[in-house]
Amino acid sequence: MQASAEILASVFLAIREMVAPGVTTADIDEVIETRIREAGCVPSFKGYHGFPASACISVNEEVVHGIPGDRELLNGDIVGVDIGLIKDDWHADSAETIPVGEIGPEADKLLRVTKECLERGIAAIEVGQRVSVIGMAIEQHARANGFSVVESLVGHGIGRELHEDPQVPNFRCFTMPDPVMEEGLVIAIEPMINAGTKRVMTARDEWTILTADRELSAHFEHTVAVTADGPQILTRRGTGTAAF
Ligand code: MG
Ligand code: MG
Repeated sequence: MQASAEILASVFLAIREMVAPGVTTADIDEVIETRIREAGCVPSFKGYHGFPASACISVNEEVVHGIPGDRELLNGDIVGVDIGLIKDDWHADSAETIPVGEIGPEADKLLRVTKECLERGIAAIEVGQRVSVIGMAIEQHARANGFSVVESLVGHGIGRELHEDPQVPNFRCFTMPDPVMEEGLVIAIEPMINAGTKRVMTARDEWTILTADRELSAHFEHTVAVTADGPQILTRRGTGTAAF
């Protein structure tokens, strides 16, 4: 899974370079699919429950599951890019929300806080702790900064399947199983943080999830292994200490 994740991280580094005003979300998807296939991997989202593209690309008030198309990015937009790939039957899944040109202060704060939420959720991982410590850490930080956490979509186990047990909520959840984390578990942690209400709705395309109040939303995701030495971020960008 580390090998899959490293390729995925390299795709993101290329995408960051190309995001700019005037680029369409379809342009981004095309580069993603080309890079994935050139690396001998398969884009795991393409055809998943009929999804038509290799990446989910979600702009501004779009939370997740946006379909790439002819929408041109504008200066000041934020664009969430979520990519999964399969190498030798093992999945990796990651997302980041990228600023387009110069973004405003609220968007800037939302991106920073969402990234911090993911980092705090990861830092809460410890063998023997329950999965719920992750969501509690994420929710606490989002709320402390005046933002809300999307509850209708959650993180997940990952391995030979894109989505495996357990579900990994980004909030304190009383309705999902809350297993103890064991060594060797690999999970995709993916906070979706909204500037306004936590409520979301599905667009007419039946894929794109939007904030109900059309305020901004951000999404960051890493594939993380639970080890005896602590969490290991498999989709870490580059070799430095920063997760992104
Ligand atoms: Mg993802
Ligand atoms: Mg995921």
